[in-house]
Amino acid sequence: WLCLSVRVRFAPSPTGSLHIGGARTALFNYLFARSRGGKFVLRLEDTDFERHQEEAEANILENLRWLGLEWDEGPDCGGPYGPYRQSERLELYRQEARRLLEAGLAYPCYCTPEELAAERERMRREGKVPRYSGRCRNLTPEERAELEAKGIKPALRLRVPAEGQIVVNDLLRGEVVFDCSALDDFIIMKSSGVPTYNFACVVDDAHMKISHVIRAEEHLSNTPKQLLVYQALGYEPPAFAHVPMILAPDRSKLSKRHGATGVEEFRANGFVPEALLNYLALLGWSPGDEQEIFSKEELIARFSLEAVSKHAAVYDIQKLTWF
Ligand code: GLU
Repeated sequence: WLCLSVRVRFAPSPTGSLHIGGARTALFNYLFARSRGGKFVLRLEDTDFERHQEEAEANILENLRWLGLEWDEGPDCGGPYGPYRQSERLELYRQEARRLLEAGLAYPCYCTPEELAAERERMRREGKVPRYSGRCRNLTPEERAELEAKGIKPALRLRVPAEGQIVVNDLLRGEVVFDCSALDDFIIMKSSGVPTYNFACVVDDAHMKISHVIRAEEHLSNTPKQLLVYQALGYEPPAFAHVPMILAPDRSKLSKRHGATGVEEFRANGFVPEALLNYLALLGWSPGDEQEIFSKEELIARFSLEAVSKHAAVYDIQKLTWF
């Protein structure tokens, strides 16, 4: 029973090439799926049409294949699977959004970007944390009809309880508690009819029956919002594991100046994929003994989420040159 239910995903946004942080997230998901007899799904989160890059998408797919992190399913069956693309699933997000709207769990917001910017500015001046005031929360049907008649296309916001706590039960960090008062009624569908990240991500994770969300720590602050979306939609949330960051040797944020960070750079420099996989695996996961060189099969056999470090990993390119 344990094995069959594991389903994980790697969900990159194709806004840049595959870097070591993303590759490590993909690898941990892949190893977890393989070690538990589960499935590894690839989903391109490509609904940010302004930032979407064709080349980035090709780069991600090519480098995942080069690393040997093959995914298990996709829309085009027969032949190698294509990835799921959120841009091809818009109707699903719209359907789910409509369901929330009809149940009164979400509401249309007619505020223009200018109005919202002015509101934020005012709050900042008053020394408050800028957040949505809830201006459109209680509009009457007549008021809505009037705004619709003016041709204003609304965004859709989730009704977030003003009080209470949301507990994220993270497999690596334990309980992380968030206060609802720190959240506002956030947008789930933009006025263009395109979902926001938090909404599309939950709809997909639920529909794709993802059992474990293993992703970068930078998304931990999104998780309480996503839990609210699960609750509103009536889906059981998956387990979460937020993997600590990768830092540069001086413990600053890793960037280009610290050496190669793009997978294609390693390829171009003649690295073999096994060496890079081995190195990435040890960036945050520890086998618990002295062994340093692992084949992919050994990684699969030995990987466990419990052995992923709770602290940031330090990326030291010198170590890679050993291979
Ligand atoms: N598209 C998000 C990213 O690339 C994915 C976050 C997630 O795994 O939920 O950061």
